[in-house]
Amino acid sequence: MPLGDGRLSHDIDPSDRAPQDACGVFGVWVPQDQAARAEVSKLTYYGLYALQHRGQESAGIAVSDGSRIVVFKDMGLVAQVFDESVLNTLRGHIAVGHCRYSTTGSPTWENAQPTFRSTEHGGLALTHNGNLINTPELAARLDGGVLTATSDTEVLTALLATREGGPLAAAREILPVTRGAFSLVFMDENTLYAARDPEGIRPLVLGSLEENGGWVVASETAALDIVGARFVRELEPGEMVAIDADGVRSERFAEANPKGCLFEYVYLARPDTTIAGRSVQATRVEVGRRLAAEHPVEADMVIPTPESGTPAAIGYAEASGIPYGQGLVKNSYVGRTFIQPSQTIRQLGIRLKLNPLREAIEGKRLVVVDDSIVRGNTQRQVVALLRDAGAAEVHVRISSPPVAWPCFYGIDFATRAELIAGNLDVEGIRDSIGADSLGFISLDELIAASRIDRDRLCRACFDGVYPIPVEEAARGKHLLETIRT
Ligand code: SF4
Repeated sequence: MPLGDGRLSHDIDPSDRAPQDACGVFGVWVPQDQAARAEVSKLTYYGLYALQHRGQESAGIAVSDGSRIVVFKDMGLVAQVFDESVLNTLRGHIAVGHCRYSTTGSPTWENAQPTFRSTEHGGLALTHNGNLINTPELAARLDGGVLTATSDTEVLTALLATREGGPLAAAREILPVTRGAFSLVFMDENTLYAARDPEGIRPLVLGSLEENGGWVVASETAALDIVGARFVRELEPGEMVAIDADGVRSERFAEANPKGCLFEYVYLARPDTTIAGRSVQATRVEVGRRLAAEHPVEADMVIPTPESGTPAAIGYAEASGIPYGQGLVKNSYVGRTFIQPSQTIRQLGIRLKLNPLREAIEGKRLVVVDDSIVRGNTQRQVVALLRDAGAAEVHVRISSPPVAWPCFYGIDFATRAELIAGNLDVEGIRDSIGADSLGFISLDELIAASRIDRDRLCRACFDGVYPIPVEEAARGKHLLETIRT
């Protein structure tokens, strides 16, 4: 897994979760006569595997053979939920898949996706990346309809399933009044649909399967690569597509007002994913170069906090002329288990996750590059670990501006009170984590490195300016549970 691994720090130290992403979505359609060879459930499995970093609580796949939809989902990682025998039972020519981290609703089986509903025309299976901000308003449109789950996605599925005229007609009615972040991939027995909110907060891309005339939609281009699909284009904000034997039909349900998530560049997306024609890795290396220019320091070695700090550390080393090295080794697999650490083990904290290379570190003045600081507990432990291992100085450099505001569009940051940058200035944070110096890249430089116009980006967790206004009442993760109790 090339990303910072939220699940691990979450499990080991509940007080210091890394940013949790909303979800990964994936869908595939192939001509019905290609179904046996294409094995859409296995393509979806591999697509989800490539998107595992976007959600690690539950995974699910729905498959249609043209006459009925079968859904299989469970709590756990993709590889824990599915095995060969399960995938062999999921036969058909259309599939949608999902890996979830909960943003609205608890991490329970009922809230795992795909969600499924029977309609007057058949079935509807839906997957969602993002977070809606007018869920109570949408729930009120159900006219007392029963919800089987507590997620915003369940409300949306129920609305699309209970409208007359089939999923397309329902989506034309409901999506224009749906607010917040939503990259949707859904299906009935014969058609694959995908839609992206008018702000395009979360990514969604379209690819083609050249060998059989099929189509794929996915959260990130890396998932297209892994199933051998050719990248065609990003879905436009406010666009919906329907894919079946008649090809790909596109329509607009709202005017585009692009506000792509800036944090995708910092941390969320895979480095081998491409956004707006540029690889995320290239952007992160560029951020590191700019970070070196903004916050230079005399040091002997630049090291990343593996793995999410690696590209920016490479850029920092390149621009500063300070040698790049490895000072911390990540124990990649410790978080891939359901065994809950006991209190004694938790006290080991970061040591379960990172091991210092004493010989490389001893006596050195280090620059440690990380992607973000949320609560600061991880960085405090990293600094202490490096000092214990003999570092002479520890200078921390962060490839994002201070995260000072919560996200309401699908990333589960802490509340403002829990965010260290919501309470302390840079000097206060430096003191709190025990570093010799601390530097964050400025928002201007981060935006410049992304090469996207400032007004086409959501930057709210950094500057508090929310592109889609969020009312106080719509801000809770357990919103529907509160309403129902
Ligand atoms: S608030 Fe931050 S994490 Fe959330 S969508 Fe905006 S930029 Fe992304």
